[in-house]
Amino acid sequence: MLEDLKLLAQIQALDSQIDEREEKKREFPRRLIPFKEGAERIDQELREAQGDLEDLQKKRRHEEGELEAREIELKKYQRQLYEVKDNKAYAALEEEIARTKEKNEAAEEEILEFLEIEEGRIKGIKEIEDELREKKKELSREEEQAKQETEILDQEIAKINISRQKIAKRIGPSSLSRYERLRQGKGGLAIVPLEGSSCGGCHMNLPPQIVSEVKKGNRFVTCENCNRLLYRKER
Ligand SMILES: [Zn+2]
Repeated sequence: MLEDLKLLAQIQALDSQIDEREEKKREFPRRLIPFKEGAERIDQELREAQGDLEDLQKKRRHEEGELEAREIELKKYQRQLYEVKDNKAYAALEEEIARTKEKNEAAEEEILEFLEIEEGRIKGIKEIEDELREKKKELSREEEQAKQETEILDQEIAKINISRQKIAKRIGPSSLSRYERLRQGKGGLAIVPLEGSSCGGCHMNLPPQIVSEVKKGNRFVTCENCNRLLYRKER
């Protein structure tokens, strides 16, 4: 067989090994997506829970402010009790005091209820925070693993490239550039072995004349269907 054909078949094997590793590297970011999305979802949940808690706290503080204002009012009414002279005004004041006390009791109860709900919400937030921490840990574990695997693949690719360069030097430049052009147009596969009497690239059956030419290996023969170079695998 032509020396260039033999060498191109070797180059093709190495290029396929590189392609395989490059493809694996491209998969890593995709593998991280579900982890990233999971963390983002929980982060969103956390922010919503925190927002709800803040709303509750705001409402409670408003209630507390109003309660405080009424307590001051109440003290003022109680002082006024000593100052009023007529019975009617006294009764009106007493009534106002009773009404304010009633309001304040209701407010105190409401504030306690708020505090109880807040306590539950705070507990819920802590649980979400724990979950988020766990998810982020998972994500960074995956990222670290992807980084390590990428480094290994890069080392392998570098090694394969050294072998490739050694072989490429021995191939005629026009044969090599023909191969490179074909590789670009054919999804990485430029030279394929005969498989019985079929093309190892597109699996079309080849005419006997072509098969016999490929077997002789005296010249470059291409598949009529996919245009790839053909060679006979040595056993
Ligand atoms: Zn073909």
